[in-house]
Order: sequence, then structure tokens, then C-alpha cells
Amino acid sequence: MQRNPDYDILFEPVSIGPKKAKNRFYQVPHCNGMGYMMPKTHAAMREMKAEGGWGIVCTEYCSIHPTSDDHPYPYAALWDDDDVKAYALMVDKVHQHGALAGVQLWHGGCTISNLMTREVPLDVGSYPVLNRRDPVQSRAMDRRDIRELRRWHRLAARRAMQAGFDIVYVYATHGYLLSHFLSKKWNRRCDAYGGSLENRVRLVRELIEETKAAVGERCAVAVRFSADGPGSDGDVIDNSEQKEMLAMLADLPDLWDINIHNYTVEMGSSRFVKEAALEKYIGYIKQVTHKPVAGVGRFTSPDTMLRQVKAGLLDFVGAARPSIADPFLPQKIEQGRYEDIRECIGCNVCYAYNTRGVPSRCTQNPTMGEEWRRGWHPEEIPAKDSEDGILIVGAGPAGLEAARALGQRGYSVTLAEATREMGGRVLAETRLPGLAEWRRVIEYRIQQLKHLHNVEIYFDSRLTADEILSYGSKHVAIATGSQWRSDGVGRWHTVPVESFDHRKIFSPDDVMKNVAVDGHVVIFDDDHYYMGPVIAEKLKADGHDVMLVTPSGYVAEWTMHTDEQESSQARLLKMGIKIITGKAVTGFDGSLAELRCVYTDRQQHVPADAIVMVTSRTPDDLLYRQLVQNPSALQQAGIESLSRIGDCLAPGIIAAAIYSGHRFAREVGVAKKPEVPFRRERVLA
Ligand code: ADP
Ligand code: SF4
Repeated sequence: MQRNPDYDILFEPVSIGPKKAKNRFYQVPHCNGMGYMMPKTHAAMREMKAEGGWGIVCTEYCSIHPTSDDHPYPYAALWDDDDVKAYALMVDKVHQHGALAGVQLWHGGCTISNLMTREVPLDVGSYPVLNRRDPVQSRAMDRRDIRELRRWHRLAARRAMQAGFDIVYVYATHGYLLSHFLSKKWNRRCDAYGGSLENRVRLVRELIEETKAAVGERCAVAVRFSADGPGSDGDVIDNSEQKEMLAMLADLPDLWDINIHNYTVEMGSSRFVKEAALEKYIGYIKQVTHKPVAGVGRFTSPDTMLRQVKAGLLDFVGAARPSIADPFLPQKIEQGRYEDIRECIGCNVCYAYNTRGVPSRCTQNPTMGEEWRRGWHPEEIPAKDSEDGILIVGAGPAGLEAARALGQRGYSVTLAEATREMGGRVLAETRLPGLAEWRRVIEYRIQQLKHLHNVEIYFDSRLTADEILSYGSKHVAIATGSQWRSDGVGRWHTVPVESFDHRKIFSPDDVMKNVAVDGHVVIFDDDHYYMGPVIAEKLKADGHDVMLVTPSGYVAEWTMHTDEQESSQARLLKMGIKIITGKAVTGFDGSLAELRCVYTDRQQHVPADAIVMVTSRTPDDLLYRQLVQNPSALQQAGIESLSRIGDCLAPGIIAAAIYSGHRFAREVGVAKKPEVPFRRERVLA
């Protein structure tokens, strides 16, 4: 396939100071849950991006000193010379594919608590730390501390150079130390580093100059900077101060990596933020600097990338999430394989697992984080090792991914789906408010299946156990999914509640099927992810009075990890949805719902014509149970392996279903599986 010549501009080499990037595809620094503790895992993950065509591949935030420790979040570190080796590993792998390697030197200031190092956080002033509201406060840096900080930065820059990095960052945004020095709200100092704009910019200027002096011509120096000031939002963009600051530093660094202050927008989930959302903030940047500019926008469309470059907004198409979902995105554009792009759906699951302190995973790319420990490649998979036929029952995300990956391996696959459409729960959920982009999970897989002639797909085929036995496949995967419960069982109620056995009690599945729900609706959200709020939004938009009740102190508490919680709660409040926290729904008589305080057990009653239970799901595993209880029938039918995958095995997030389907595809037919299914990095290797 030939690429559209319009896109040639995306593949032009661009100079960054003393270095030249082979193209405009720039994997900006992004966290990944690996950090300095997992250098091999990290290096292999970054290598995939270089192999996939990204011209520049960066680390995540890289601490320069123990006073900048973000535990339990994993982060990179160049604290001493022993760290150099770990990053040389990554750099070598990135260089092998002709890409440049960048490192984002970082000091967290009072955003972080130094839980592991027990160092007192340092910042422009004495402030309580922001992270998780730990009971920790920073001390205001004096002149000596500032001198020390500059020295640490120089030393880290030299170590970066020794590791072979091509680009060294000064990181002056995202609410970390340097952004506090820049901010007139945070910086209340009366010395040479506070007050006037010039004084507030002084430290960033010194760090740029000193980093340049430290690395000479061996590395380029990039600055990560916000285009807008703190407190600006979509409606009122105040970037006057930022513009002045940028103008003061205009051509000092070799590259500007531009984002915006509000992380929730910059990295917003697709429920709240769409592709190229930063465009309105960054229009002025190229007017104040001659240096190349990189910027993000969850770009997955080559046309959007092209437009931003041609409009002179960006020189480099920056990406974090799109490079996670598809490390081979640049190569696919280069080869004109646009339909093979695995587009990021903006769910922020990648970010969530970093905040949980483990390697990131991705809804679209099941190999993310598994490159080293399992040896999984995002585009390649071993060819089949037998002529066995494989039957997959159910075409939700698990079944689709299993069929796609097995098809890629060359197996003869049958995919049977009960309904007339593929996609299962994802298809149903994409009809809920804000979730339309999740359709990409299905679209990518359907697109791939079109070219796999060894995969046969049957619709309207709700298979029975007998039909499966008589089909003649050696391996069978049951991917029949799960159903939301309506009896209240979840985290709060561990057994069904009698009064919930009522015709006016509904599940999210009912709401997604548009079953008629009347009047005042109480939603009991004991699931704590996105489903409660999106069901509330839908019912409110349908004209209901809606109240969301949760035993948690927050709406959708788990969405703190995906950085959606505040946006989610704000949206419900703005829509006029009543929110009751710290209470469980414990009874219902058809017109009143009984609520109980989770702390005091006190009861109250609220009017309710209907209740929607967002609590937990029951695996749809009847078929599996019918088959597994009759081993002789399986044997007679020639079925060597019977597996459950996805929600049928254990209801979970979509990423878990995709992973489950993918893993099945890689492991089917393997008789003896290792006790520990992956390699581990060991400190005393
Ligand atoms: P997962 O997330 O594990 O992929 P889903 O619930 O999204 O699960 O998808 C399950 C799919 O299985 C649905 O599309 C459903 O229609 C289909 N299905 C359920 N039972 C059968 C069956 N007996 N035969 C074929 N398909 C089935
Ligand atoms: Fe995109 Fe979701 Fe994958 Fe993150 S986890 S890269 S947001 S698809």
C-alpha cells in the first residue's frame, strides 16, 4: 500500500538543536508504571515505539534527586551513576531503530510526599503536599537549596548524556516544582526568584542555560511548558503571563514541548475531551519562538496531525496514549495502512494502573507492559503450531480479540455470535453518553477480521452445549460475557436483598436496552467506575429526576485513577443530578427507597419510582458449566481444551476482556504452562 503523499510532511526530518529527528512523530514523556524498578520492562516497551516508527521516544518523569520521590507511583530516576546503566538499556534499544531518545528530568516540589526517601519536600514556599493529601508539608527553598537544585539538575543532565540520551528536558509544568516558581499564585518570594516575571522565570532560565552547558553539543535541551496559566479553562483562557514568559525564553531551548496547565483536560478521557483539544490554547506559541514545537491532542487521525503541522501550530505530533494503543502508528501511516491503526479510545486505563503502582495496561493494546516479561509484540505473534480448529462462542471484546489473534496466527477459527452484531457489551456501552469513541475497540477488530480468511463468523448463532459438542473443534473458548445483577449484590450487599425482588428494580443492561423506567430514579452505585455516572446522565437526559447513591465518599471513586472523578462529579452536579454519598440503598417498597448511612446505620427514606442497581455482574457461564460437567462427552467430541475467557470467566473492565482473549490466543494448545507465567525483574539478579 502507498501512503497519501499529503502525509509526506509528517515524515520529514526535523532538527532539534544539534540532533535531527527522522520524522515528526514524537512520543512525549509518559508514565507507565514501570519506573526505575523495572528497567528491562521499560526498555522493551519504549523499544516497541522506536520500532513502530516514532522519531523521538522519551522516558517518563525522571527524578534528579531523592528529594523528588513519588512513591508509590513508579517514576524514572537518575540519582547517581548506578542509574545510568538502566537508562542506557533503553537508549540503546531506541537507537537501534533510528529514533532519538529523550529524558524528562524532574523535580516534584510539594506535589509529592517523598514517602520512600523520607526527605522533606522542597518548594518555592512551605505548602502542604498535594498528592493524596498526605500529612506532609514542604519547606521553602532558600538560596542554598536553589543552588543545590541547580547542581542536581546539572549532574542528572550529565548522567543522561552518559546514558546516551539525545534530548534532555527541563520540566516546567504540570504543577511540579518549576511551575510553582513560575506562578504568581504560588511564588510569594521576595528574593531574586520571586515577584517580577523576570524573577519568577529566573530558575527555569538558569536550568536551561546550565543544562545546555552540561551537555554541550551532545544533547538537545527541551522545555516542557504550559501554554496557559493556572486557573484558565475552556471558556476563559488567560495565557497572557505564559506568553510573556515564553517570549522571554523564546529561543533559549532547542525545543518546546507544549501542553496546558489543567491535566484533566490535557489528558482528559474521551468522555470529556476530544482529539486536538489543546488547539485553542497553543495558537500563539509559534509566534514567539523560532524553535520547533511539540504538542499533544490524543491524535490518532493522520488528517488532524497534518492539519496541525500545516497550520503551523506544531512541528512535532506529540503523543502519549496514541503511542501506547498503537506503538506502530507512524509506520502504519507511512505504509498507507490507515485502517490498521489501533486507535486509542481515551479511557485512561493506562494511566489508572500507573497510579495503582503496576505496569500500565491498555484497553486497545493487550501487549502493553508485556513486551519484556512475556515477550509479546504488538504486531507479531507466533504462527500456529498445529492444524487444530478453534471455536469461539461470543463476539464481545474477548471473543473478538481471541478470533483476531488466532486468525493472525493462522488457525482455522469459527466465531459464533448469538446476535446480529459483534461487540457485546462494548457495543451496548457505546450508546451511553460520552462512550461513543469506545466503538474503536470493535471497529479495529472487525477491520482486521475482514482480511483473515481463516476466520469464519456466524451471526444469529446462539450455540447450545450440544451444538458445541457436535461442531468438531479441538479447542473451544466460551466468551459469552456477563449480565449486570439487579438484586443488589455487590460490595455492600453480599446476599440478595428481599425487597429488591421488585418489578421496578432495573439493571444497567435494562437501561442500555431502553427498557421503560418511570419517574424518580434512584441509582445505587456500588460499582464505583464509570457505569453509575453514565447511567445517571442517560436517565437525566431522558427526562427523569435522578439521584445517585453511593457508599463511597465520592461519585465513581475508582475514576480517580483514570483522572475522571472530578469531571464526572462536576457533570452530574451541573446536570442537576442529586448525589448522596456515604449511604447504601437497603430497601425499596415501590415508592420509597430506604437509605442507610454507612457510618451510623441511620435510616432515611427518599421518593423513588424505580431503582437502578449498578453493583456487580454475573458471569454468563452456563454453557461452560454444562460442558465441563461432562468430561466424557467432551472427550467423545474430540474437544481437547475448553476455556472461559473475558467476562464469562470473571466480569471486569474491557481491557481485561481484551487481554483475556489475547492471552487465550497465545496460549491455546500449550499443554504445560509455567508456574509463574512471566519473567520478573529482580533487584539481586
Ligand atoms: P466479553 O467482555 O467477555 O467479551 P461480552 O458480554 O461483551 O463479553 O460479549 C459476550 C458476547 O457473547 C455477546 O455478544 C453475546 O451476544 C454473545 N453470546 C452469549 N451467549 C452466546 C451463545 N450461547 N452463543 C453465541 N454467542 C453468545
Ligand atoms: Fe488509550 Fe485507553 Fe489504551 Fe490509554 S488504555 S492508550 S486511553 S486506549
